[in-house]
Amino acid sequence: MLLVFDLDDTLIPTSKEITPKKLDFALKQMIDSGLLFDFEEGRRMIHQMNESARRSKEVIEEFVLRAEGSDYHKEVGLRALDEKTQGINVTPQIDLNDFLKILRKSHKLAIVTGGNKEAQEEKIDLYQIDRELFDEIIIEEWGQKERAYTKLKEKFGPFLVVGDRIINDLSGAKKIGCITIHIRQGRGAFEPKNHPDVDFEIETIKELTRVLERI
Ligand SMILES: [Mg+2]
Repeated sequence: MLLVFDLDDTLIPTSKEITPKKLDFALKQMIDSGLLFDFEEGRRMIHQMNESARRSKEVIEEFVLRAEGSDYHKEVGLRALDEKTQGINVTPQIDLNDFLKILRKSHKLAIVTGGNKEAQEEKIDLYQIDRELFDEIIIEEWGQKERAYTKLKEKFGPFLVVGDRIINDLSGAKKIGCITIHIRQGRGAFEPKNHPDVDFEIETIKELTRVLERI
């Protein structure tokens, strides 16, 4: 069976390692472009807002509103979020490649992720995820995974999907008869429990083995 993985907060710890640094960068860009706000105070606000936000995009929008910035500042901040993450140090997911290699002995693997193509590609490289392990790596627009899921089902048959966002990552797959696994990591930890679109819940990617034994 094909195993489909979301990228952010499923295979890599995006909201822990990348998002805070991207938000700092966006704040700096906005201040540099004329937004009147103290950097340290802005930073505290942004990080606090980020803890319960659905997306970093929404943090920037909300912050600009609170800081009484203009549409231009908002545009600068949002653009900064999509820019390349040059200079960000991350913890390479070495174990992850080994784990995926084991799964690959009995399954085909794919990544379906949403967002800016360049930024998503860069994260795959940054975390040294071995692309050779995957039959498909699909980058869709944010919130548009259903299109990819339909194509994958036509090609590989019903699949199993792992993701941290129930609506974005799992609901579309559930609708077309696939098995859904909610991974309660990163922002996914705030998602509701016992959701009807979730077949199994796991806390870390390694727990997937336990699920695979049961299906
Ligand atoms: Mg995710």
